[in-house]
Amino acid sequence: MTTTELSPQLDAALAVRWHELNERLADIRRRYPDAALASSLAAEDMLLTHALYAGGSDLEVFTLDTGRLHAETLGVLDAVRERYGREVTVYRPDAGAVERHVAEHGAYAFYESVALRRACCQIRKVAPLKRALAGRGAWITGQRRSQSTTRGELPFEEDDAAFGLYKFNPLAEWDEEEVWSVIRALGIPYNPLHDQGYPSIGCEPCTRAIRPGEDLRAGRWWWESSDSKECGLHAGNRVIPVVARVE
Ligand code: SF4
Repeated sequence: MTTTELSPQLDAALAVRWHELNERLADIRRRYPDAALASSLAAEDMLLTHALYAGGSDLEVFTLDTGRLHAETLGVLDAVRERYGREVTVYRPDAGAVERHVAEHGAYAFYESVALRRACCQIRKVAPLKRALAGRGAWITGQRRSQSTTRGELPFEEDDAAFGLYKFNPLAEWDEEEVWSVIRALGIPYNPLHDQGYPSIGCEPCTRAIRPGEDLRAGRWWWESSDSKECGLHAGNRVIPVVARVE
């Protein structure tokens, strides 16, 4: 049976991509049965969630509810439950750490400096991620190379020294159009903010819609320069000089 026959809703090229992705996820499951997908509930992660949940994989999908997410993003959790009959595990920040940070610096300190922004991300994202990854051999992300200057060299798999486990980026070589073509063809649920100019969605006060021609992650921490735009979850990512990216 051909890949197109296996995925009749997809054209031949996408069917191959989809088939390769499912093979890659099965390989991850064989090598690391305790691996989990860290989902931001954005388009790429919904595509991966569909591959896992509709494909019957028992790999876990989890998300980090920072306490500052859009209502639309939280609504995706209900959409997943309704569509697949399975939950996304939710990790939340330590309430005491959040309280102390807000009491000392204010509720919007992330606008004041990169250091304070990173401190907030550390409490609301990195610390809960560490808890989510504790004891696992590997994790899976929806990162793609073409998303930003910090992801241009993203490998399919890597040793994640920052968190001390293996990390898989099975969508590394997918482009934006391929992601959306599969989402539409397979009717995968997605965050409605994507239809309102938000290709990349983080916390509400730290995300804006992008303008035509802007980098896909330009709406994340838009007041900072592009080389600081990671939240600490993907500490290995680095900026590639523009001359090195011209191909
Ligand atoms: S994205 Fe903004 S609100 Fe969310 S954790 Fe980072 S600094 Fe805090």
